[in-house]
Amino acid sequence: MKIFRPSLTDIYNQIRVSQAAPDLTDIGSRIQSLETQVEHLRALNRALVEYLADHVNLSPQAFLDQLSKEHPKQDAEHTLHCPSCGTLIASDAKACYSCGMKVGTDTYILG
Ligand SMILES: [Zn+2]
Repeated sequence: MKIFRPSLTDIYNQIRVSQAAPDLTDIGSRIQSLETQVEHLRALNRALVEYLADHVNLSPQAFLDQLSKEHPKQDAEHTLHCPSCGTLIASDAKACYSCGMKVGTDTYILG
């Protein structure tokens, strides 16, 4: 009968995995929380698009098509990192959408 003898590397890796387990659990729950937030934001975004499209008598898709024509995607030159949290935001943003820090000089900010 052959006896399994773990190498020092095996033991080291086993210790590393067991030490990292709480972090991995935390990362898993953090990802789950972010997925839940994304789902809520998707639902909110969908409702907003439908609401706005209805107000200009367009279908949601026609509204989105018109919106993307009028406001083409901004490239990296038009973005900056929030000085507070580092989130990538539009350079003309008045506030960071992630942490809420005011980054512009416009005082007409809701919320
Ligand atoms: Zn921020």
